[in-house]
Amino acid sequence: MQTELLYLKDCYLKEFNAKVLDSNAEQKWIELNKTAFYPEAGGQPTDKGKIEFQGKDSKVVLVKKRDGKILHFLEGEIPEKGTEVKALLDWNLRFKYMKMHSAQHLLSALILDQFGASTVGNQIQEEKSRMDFYPIRFEEETLKKLETEFNEIVEKELPVEIQFKSRETVLEEVDEKRRVLFSRLPEAIKEIRVIEIPGIDKCPCGGTHVKNTKEIGKIKILGRENKGKERDRVSFTLID
Ligand SMILES: [Zn+2]
Repeated sequence: MQTELLYLKDCYLKEFNAKVLDSNAEQKWIELNKTAFYPEAGGQPTDKGKIEFQGKDSKVVLVKKRDGKILHFLEGEIPEKGTEVKALLDWNLRFKYMKMHSAQHLLSALILDQFGASTVGNQIQEEKSRMDFYPIRFEEETLKKLETEFNEIVEKELPVEIQFKSRETVLEEVDEKRRVLFSRLPEAIKEIRVIEIPGIDKCPCGGTHVKNTKEIGKIKILGRENKGKERDRVSFTLID
């Protein structure tokens, strides 16, 4: 049995009940029948939190995929297979990651559309994130202008929608610049999770996002750094 990934449909789920599918006391992990914990991947860090069971609680310190399984690494007692647990996310941390991840999509879309530069790397952190773009060399005033445009879209409170679409549908409706993002996904994926900011962006993504651009908060671009020929790294923070 595979773990049902609750965060794919509801990024705002903060707690849930689940059953332990498998556990390993030595390696200190459990596998659950469903989870709202995001396993570290694609530049978004692991969720953290805790699980409660039989009057005890253990910290969830790391969630990661291993051999197709989602393992929740715990600090404290490890519940046995079959145990019913209540799980609670560290929501403060997760919400910061959601804001940062949606911010990345928005910035990525602005830069792709205006300069034809793709996002070739990214790493989210709690307070500061970074993205690498190629091919581009940013000027100081370009970044200032992007910051202003970004913050205008934040003010517009545009929805950030999560949709599940067939490969055919999405390849047909997406523009030329974005088609490669979808067509390079493995053929085995028939239904694609699409994060859409209407009129601005469509992007295949398995991460967690806020529900509208207002929730992102305002961006402050902290700087740029040259990371190779025509490869620029931009770092930013978000202000509430
Ligand atoms: Zn994403």
